[in-house]
Amino acid sequence: MSTPISGPISVRTPARVSARTATVTTLLLAALLLSGCSGSSGGGKGAASASPSPRTDAASSPSASAVPDAAAYRRWGLDKPLAAPPAPPATKLTEGMRSGATPKVIRRVPTDDKVVFLTFDDGAEKDPEFVKMAKDLKLPFTMFLTDDIARAGSGYGYFEQLWGGGNRNGIHNHTLSHPNLRTLSADAQRREVCGQQDVLEKRYGSKPPLFRPPYGNYNDATLAAAGSCGVKALLLWEATMQINDMRYADGGKLRSGDIVLAHFRGPSELKGTTMTQMVANMLRSIERQGFTVARLEDYV
Ligand SMILES: [Zn+2]
Repeated sequence: MSTPISGPISVRTPARVSARTATVTTLLLAALLLSGCSGSSGGGKGAASASPSPRTDAASSPSASAVPDAAAYRRWGLDKPLAAPPAPPATKLTEGMRSGATPKVIRRVPTDDKVVFLTFDDGAEKDPEFVKMAKDLKLPFTMFLTDDIARAGSGYGYFEQLWGGGNRNGIHNHTLSHPNLRTLSADAQRREVCGQQDVLEKRYGSKPPLFRPPYGNYNDATLAAAGSCGVKALLLWEATMQINDMRYADGGKLRSGDIVLAHFRGPSELKGTTMTQMVANMLRSIERQGFTVARLEDYV
């Protein structure tokens, strides 16, 4: 399914879903909102390092024509283009990790570059306008998908549009059903984490190296489970995108290397704001604070 490269800012095409799917989606959304998936980052413990096996996928090498023009930004309500990100570091954080090693826990990427990283979780909202926007702006971001949420409605095909077609945006693991992993046994955690590794491997050809635990909650059993099925790093966050602006863990502003948590959400979760408007608000805030957006997989 291809989409044209331009689009007005606020027109949103409603996805066609069956009544049953819509109900399931609504229930899932309600559950997520009630339990505050985007809430503050949870606790947990640090982790060790570990060996080689960088995934060679769509997200690994910079491409030449990665600079959108100013008109593209204006079409999406942004006054000026984001600055081009600096060259990524020569060594990634997960480089040299032994297979099966305990994943690294990363809340913020250690860098002095004036960059932040965008992450979108869960996969509930499947707004076709966001596909246009992402392509138009060549926006780098990282997706963490939960199987039963991503599968609902138009399903994984939606995310393939954001992943493929010259976009290098990675799709990573956010469990099968979005539980609070700290409440589960080691076996149940393994099913949730490794089950989604298998689902994503089947769809995209390799096990994703990054994992985000729902609500930021994890424990030693989570790290053991994730390490056993190919996860190299557990990604948390310190900045969270709200409808109009961001919430920060520290200092009331963005810092270099911040990982920004956002979600695939639409007007019913965003008080009438569309996903693309929310993203435009986020990019405006990032620019205003003197940062640009880089690709997480180029650093981690
Ligand atoms: Zn989530």
